[in-house]
Amino acid sequence: MKERYDVIVAGAGLAGSLAAGMAAKGGASVLLLDRNKEEEVGKKTNWGWVCGDAVANDHLKFVTQKLGIKFDKPELDHRVDGVVAFSPDMKSKFPFDGEGYILDRPIFEAKLLKYARDCGAEYHSLFEVEGPIIENNCVVGIFGKDHEKKHAEIRAKIVIDALGIATSLRRKLPENHYVDREVDISDVESTGRYIYEADADHEDLTWYDEKNALIHLNQNIAPGGYGWVFPKSNGKVNIGIGVQKASLDIRNQKLGRKDTLHTLMDDYVKMNPVLRNLRLYNAHNNGKGYWQVAVRRQMDSLVFNGYMGAGDSMAMPNPISAGGIGPALVAGILAGEEAAKAVQNGDFSAKGLWGYNLAFNEIYGKKTAGLEVFRVYLQSLNNDLINYGMKNFLTSKEAIDLGYGRVTELSLASKFKMILKGATNINAFSNLVYVVRTMDDLGKIYSAFPRTPDGFVEWRKRVKDRMGEAKARFKPSPV
Ligand SMILES: Cc1cc2nc3c(=O)[nH]c(=O)nc-3n(C[C@H](O)[C@H](O)[C@H](O)COP(=O)(O)OP(=O)(O)OC[C@H]3O[C@@H](n4cnc5c(N)ncnc54)[C@H](O)[C@@H]3O)c2cc1C
Repeated sequence: MKERYDVIVAGAGLAGSLAAGMAAKGGASVLLLDRNKEEEVGKKTNWGWVCGDAVANDHLKFVTQKLGIKFDKPELDHRVDGVVAFSPDMKSKFPFDGEGYILDRPIFEAKLLKYARDCGAEYHSLFEVEGPIIENNCVVGIFGKDHEKKHAEIRAKIVIDALGIATSLRRKLPENHYVDREVDISDVESTGRYIYEADADHEDLTWYDEKNALIHLNQNIAPGGYGWVFPKSNGKVNIGIGVQKASLDIRNQKLGRKDTLHTLMDDYVKMNPVLRNLRLYNAHNNGKGYWQVAVRRQMDSLVFNGYMGAGDSMAMPNPISAGGIGPALVAGILAGEEAAKAVQNGDFSAKGLWGYNLAFNEIYGKKTAGLEVFRVYLQSLNNDLINYGMKNFLTSKEAIDLGYGRVTELSLASKFKMILKGATNINAFSNLVYVVRTMDDLGKIYSAFPRTPDGFVEWRKRVKDRMGEAKARFKPSPV
């Protein structure tokens, strides 16, 4: 390992490997560091590569288009036609069409690492990144423990933080008005995920569907989140739940229960009437795990002086679905590309790296603040309201538009208002109208994202004010 590089990429997960590959391809000298041993590249924690592993084909196509990497079996473990979201009473469903895949994550990650190395990035495993080196309000390198557990300091013009949600870099940045150092606990889902081999007892497409990724919205089963059953190859399933802590506490208190993520997870597996004879599928020791995922908009700025962030370190997962694979892939590519440009231009300040903010917002980020508001709204509805709302408030197309962060007209709004019954339902519908309006406003604010850091502080205040107003209006109310 040298003492100095153009770019250090911390974390060889999805975002990190692509950022390293792209930056090296752009001519930068790149060091890619990760704490895992090489055979376990991309493993998030001791629990494994904890994830639902579902990704839309559009995101994979973006990678192929930009890098020329093609994906196939075995990393694309199983193809699905789309995602189907069910109401708590299972009587309504919204099918989100669009080809997608459930990945074999360890194999997928190994392929991305190979790409990074083929492009010329220097990779070192078993390196624990402990924090950034800061000089004159600028990140100029990282420190940590090398494979012999010896203290090491390495310098670079730019550090790309791809360390995932528990990042030791973003949290240790100097106080600054670009990147939040902490993520609020109410914006985090605690998740559990098991992979099983199973036999299907009978056909019931609400509980297991070989052709679709199923989502169960249910504030009792998964307060403030949802449960999922994603089919994998040869009868295997990826099954899990995500819960919001505040919602779980309120639910437990109201129902006099003491459930935890672990008990809820086990109950969810047991209540599935289709999956029988479950055997934990523990290849790569990845059968059972728990981890966290942030469900807020990505950090308002993804750059600081000498610093860029991509993937979960920047809270990029979709606030509604918690899908973070797509944004991590997109952000990794864009961060690497912009880092290489900045190295050529010789400007590593936030201003010199600003193009990355613009590129990410354009391709993905501009819709997420609106989705965060929609998520907070959903968490304020109990099962009865979700059942009623999915049946009466929205057409399937409107729901799908909202789910993708597209502002819908709610064309049938006035008609619905005439037929809605009960003050609580009418109130929930008015709140939905408010959410759609707020999503529209936030979309406009994001289309005015400052072209340079000048004006960012004022812009950010507009976002925070709007978010603050929405969050004050909606409180978790699972039961
Ligand atoms: C249970 C669960 C289910 C999910 N389901 C889906 C889904 O179905 N679809 C979807 O799109 N998204 C899903 N997500 C989100 C998705 O998994 C993440 O968004 C994605 O993994 C982010 O990739 P990343 O590269 O940013 O970070 P990570 O995958 O977390 O990679 C970070 C890398 O950095 C390394 N690292 C961390 N700290 C250090 C350190 N201090 N020193 C050195 N190395 C370090 C880690 O070992 C790892 O290799 C889910 C998340 C969870 C928790």
